[in-house]
Amino acid sequence: MRYLVLALLSLQVHAADFRVGAAQVDITPKNGTPMAGYYKFRAVSGVLDPIFVKTIVVEQDGRHAAMVVLDLAGTTRPIVEAARKAVQEQCGIEGDHVMISATHTHTGPQLARGSLMDDLTKANSPPGLEYMNALPGLIAQSVKEAKARLTAVQPSAAAGKAEGISFNRRVLRDGVTQAIWQPQKINPATERPAGPIDPEVGVLVFQADGKPVASYLNFAMHPTSVGGGLSISADYPGVFTRLVRERHGPGMVALFANGCCGNINHGDYITHQRRSTLQLGTALADAATAAWPDLKPLTSFAPRVRSEQVTLQRRKFSEAEIARARDIAARMMTQSLGTVPMAEAVCILETETKKDVPLVVEVQCICFSDDLAIISLPGEIFVELGLAIKKASPFKHTLIAELANGSMGYVPNREAYPQGNYEIVSARGEAGSGEKLVEVALKLLREVKAGK
Ligand SMILES: [Zn+2]
Repeated sequence: MRYLVLALLSLQVHAADFRVGAAQVDITPKNGTPMAGYYKFRAVSGVLDPIFVKTIVVEQDGRHAAMVVLDLAGTTRPIVEAARKAVQEQCGIEGDHVMISATHTHTGPQLARGSLMDDLTKANSPPGLEYMNALPGLIAQSVKEAKARLTAVQPSAAAGKAEGISFNRRVLRDGVTQAIWQPQKINPATERPAGPIDPEVGVLVFQADGKPVASYLNFAMHPTSVGGGLSISADYPGVFTRLVRERHGPGMVALFANGCCGNINHGDYITHQRRSTLQLGTALADAATAAWPDLKPLTSFAPRVRSEQVTLQRRKFSEAEIARARDIAARMMTQSLGTVPMAEAVCILETETKKDVPLVVEVQCICFSDDLAIISLPGEIFVELGLAIKKASPFKHTLIAELANGSMGYVPNREAYPQGNYEIVSARGEAGSGEKLVEVALKLLREVKAGK
């Protein structure tokens, strides 16, 4: 009898193996490809460090989920849909079990978004389209390679902390309601950050026989530290993931998912220190290394994936605002009119063109443990919204991947709208859109927690 129980137990353990496979595929564009990050055409003319699509596939009892992160400025819905279709056909993983997010590196290629931005950045030029059309296949390839490497693992998680490297890039001055954007310096007597930052460094590690095979790292900060050069770089996430591999397991694939960093930059207006890409990546790797001894094993189960399509209201503009945007658009191909007016014009004209098309975006949740879930949001989300999700989440660890499964651009919290400036004038959704996304995210988190 005792032997029978043991045999059954071992059978059961075997059947319930939690497996993970990870892979990365180079997606560095060739010279001449349009670059992202700024409101003008810049052709790629070199490579500082390569960029990748990285994938972790998790599986138990034949149920799969995949987390995919691209070293790109963003994701677009057409690419996500094409990639999911390719994954479903080539890898036998349900397309809607795939979460595709972007690190938001500002030194990656630009993807066409169906707006005026495409003309400014030449994203829809032949080299831009050639790059874009190859992406779904490369994403599917990374998922396929990851799935081929599925091996029994023990997942574990810890929460690190990196303080003093990220800053809320919106600042309020006493007596003034409009926010200042990306100041070089502030006067602490009269000026203060308009909101918080999120210092948490999420660390999720999968180990096979004690050796890390994959990690999923999470922090909220714009990757803009390389600046306006013409060379491709993964920015600080490239350094961060490289150092984590070097220190903790050269054989692992380390993914970095950007958190809610819509209003978070590295520009230090407190001490005025200029931190390099290397310094930022090292600070985050140090935070992950400090958290490594705190990694706690997660009890795992077959992945649960929930997605919801959310319909949001587009902002509305007056005839005068639309006329002014047309005037700016007519001049901005030949003149540099400043980031904020250009961003505003692009947003107003895109909204005008799409005013009868519902603004539908996806929120997705992947969960394989009672203590951890990954939630994805479709844009550049203000940090206040991410913190609200983490605070109310039923999970001990909630990792958030922004710019996932498409992007609606900036998503400010409601309080920020009247304070204006860059992210607000370029936001597609009306005030309250971000809070709606938080509500849906929390609903999905509660559902997966309840076993749905
Ligand atoms: Zn951004």
